[in-house]
Amino acid sequence: MRASHGWIAAAAIGMAAMHGRAALVDVPAPLLAKVVAEVPGTSVPVVAAMAIALLVGACGAIIVLASRHVALRRHNRTLDARIRDLADQALRFKVAEERTRSFLEAQGDVIVRRDSQNRITYANDAFCMLAGRPRAALIGSDFVPAIVEQGEVAVLDDGTRVHDQELVTNDGPRWFAWREVVLPKPIEPDEIQSVGRDITDRVRTARALAEARDQAEAANRAKSRFLAMVSHEIRTPLNGILGMSDLLLDTELSPEQKTYAKAVKSSGVALMSLIEEILDFSKIEAGKLDLEARPFGLETLVEDVAELLAPRAQAKGLEMASYVDDRIPECVLGDETRLRQVLLNLAGNAVKFTERGGAAIVVEPGIGRDEVRFTVRDTGIGIAKEAQSRIFLEFEQGESGLTRRFGGTGLGLAITRRIVERMGGQIGVDSAPGAGSAFHFTIKLPRPDERTQSARPVPDLSGISVLLVAPAPIEAPLAARRLGRWGAITRVVPDDGIAAALIADHHWNAVVVDHSLGSMAVESLGRNLQGTVPRRIILIEPGARNELPRLKQAGYSGYLVKPIRAASLAMRLGGNADRFDAEPAPAAARRSGAEMPDPAEAAHRAMSILVAEDNEINALLSRALLQRLGHRPTIVPTGTAAVESWLGASAAGTPYDLVLMDVNMPGLDGLEAARRIRAAEAESSASRTLIIALTANVFAEDRAACLAAGMDGFLGKPLDQEGLAAALATRIGPVSSPMAAA
Ligand code: ADP
Repeated sequence: MRASHGWIAAAAIGMAAMHGRAALVDVPAPLLAKVVAEVPGTSVPVVAAMAIALLVGACGAIIVLASRHVALRRHNRTLDARIRDLADQALRFKVAEERTRSFLEAQGDVIVRRDSQNRITYANDAFCMLAGRPRAALIGSDFVPAIVEQGEVAVLDDGTRVHDQELVTNDGPRWFAWREVVLPKPIEPDEIQSVGRDITDRVRTARALAEARDQAEAANRAKSRFLAMVSHEIRTPLNGILGMSDLLLDTELSPEQKTYAKAVKSSGVALMSLIEEILDFSKIEAGKLDLEARPFGLETLVEDVAELLAPRAQAKGLEMASYVDDRIPECVLGDETRLRQVLLNLAGNAVKFTERGGAAIVVEPGIGRDEVRFTVRDTGIGIAKEAQSRIFLEFEQGESGLTRRFGGTGLGLAITRRIVERMGGQIGVDSAPGAGSAFHFTIKLPRPDERTQSARPVPDLSGISVLLVAPAPIEAPLAARRLGRWGAITRVVPDDGIAAALIADHHWNAVVVDHSLGSMAVESLGRNLQGTVPRRIILIEPGARNELPRLKQAGYSGYLVKPIRAASLAMRLGGNADRFDAEPAPAAARRSGAEMPDPAEAAHRAMSILVAEDNEINALLSRALLQRLGHRPTIVPTGTAAVESWLGASAAGTPYDLVLMDVNMPGLDGLEAARRIRAAEAESSASRTLIIALTANVFAEDRAACLAAGMDGFLGKPLDQEGLAAALATRIGPVSSPMAAA
């Protein structure tokens, strides 16, 4: 018991020590004395030792406890930090989610998701607005807005379904462009998300534009109809003016009266071409430019154009020539009328804007298959660089001063450009002021049949030497080029002096002398050539034909007329003929009536001709022209009267030989009258009467309509004596006419 007192005392001391106090100092001395006194076997040193042992043990325990405490506090701090991190992360997620949601909701696009039962699982604000219902009412419902109009549905490669819809919305009907996708399975099984963009403004604008375009097209069509009508109305009296002035000019007139009558006629012609240009442009504007693809002879066409313009050029002292490379097929497929129009326009301008030298139409093979390159060049005033693109626009002219000097509307090149573009080509110009112009374009003109020959047969002139003596720069070089292609050796010299020297020095198989060298030079060269050169050819303008006997006397063995046609050149230099005989008359001359049958000849083949013409003056003109040609015209004012008259004449056994049928007549028009005559012929098995349309509209569609109605050809108005004679001659002789081309 006493010993336990001693341990208690030591423990107390130890406890005191554990509480950090200095035990030996702080343990009350009386207690210590009492422990020592009461516990047997103890002494102060023992107690002290016990106390120290206890103290050491306590200290160890304290150290262990303290270190665990520290570890726990550190763990606590880590946990705190983690909690803070997680809280931050949660906040960030919340903010992001909020942002995404508000972004989706604030979208102008309408977003709606539906499950496999078509129940709405999500709808953004825009959809709620469209539906005019709160979100809570929509979610879980199968609400679908009413559809006003449904556009076509397409499915894209990635499976997205796209379509446009006009929907009944809270704000009235609106258009939406929908994109619908099935959401990927891991996100929402079988949910379809539809995103609709409001395209009302776009659709309305597009519709307004289409409407405006339709209106503009309708207005354009109305304008074309109006122009066609007005120009027809203007053309009718104008035809009268032109026809009557022709008749007037054929009567006895004083020189003064003749001048006035000619002025009336030339003003009428100018007005007619202006009207035609405007009408043509308006037709092209209205998209009514339908091209034909028929076989035609390209070289003939080009030579015809050159011949047609040659008198105008020659009147100004200019040359007008053409050259068609003989690698180009004889017959090609295309729209001859429109190509003629293009070439007439370009070559007409070339003559108009040239005061010295001349113009040429050159046709060569292009680079690609079936390509043909056309160049119309001149030695005229040229065009400034800045004006070169402008002149192809409507009503644009090179310089305003030129308009006054040369006249014109500025429409010709605009029409030309459109036709060339429609033919698949591009028109361009190389030019400089004072250095002439070269307008060029390339189009495809295939052969009508692959089996037809690609190149034309040409004469073989190899070994033949030809000297050309010509001061003018256009025709002779082109003729030399052609002769060169045929194998001849050529030389072009500009004056008789050099020519005489060359003739003395070399042997020439042929010498071609341009009549424009002047009478003296021409005659002395002729004499010089006689006996030395086998072929001595004089090159003349048609107006100099009356000088031919004198030129023959001067020593020339043959002649060529400008513009030279390839066939004439081949005949003169390639053929065996070495006579001063007439070359075949140019096509234009044939057409222009140079070989017109004379009235006396025509009279003994006088035809009975029915003319249906509602316009009194035109009727008067037709009667006068036909009577002059020795025929017997019967004039009727309507289509109905024409059919009746034809039936009457047939029944009486005196059928008409020919019907000239005006196309535009009130009541029964010319087309219908022709159909009825054809039907009557078929019924009675009467022989076919030739019916020729009289029309101011000579475009492909008009022509096709005439032919479809059973007519055999057409005659363009205004009627003139030459055209009429040529057309009628197809009935009585082999003279070609525009009809034959039709
Ligand atoms: P127009 O001849 O009626 O004025 P175009 O459209 O045919 O109308 O020609 C437009 C303009 O282009 C002409 O006014 C002229 O200034 C210029 N032009 C056309 N061809 C030639 C040319 N061969 N040489 C010089 N200028 C030309």
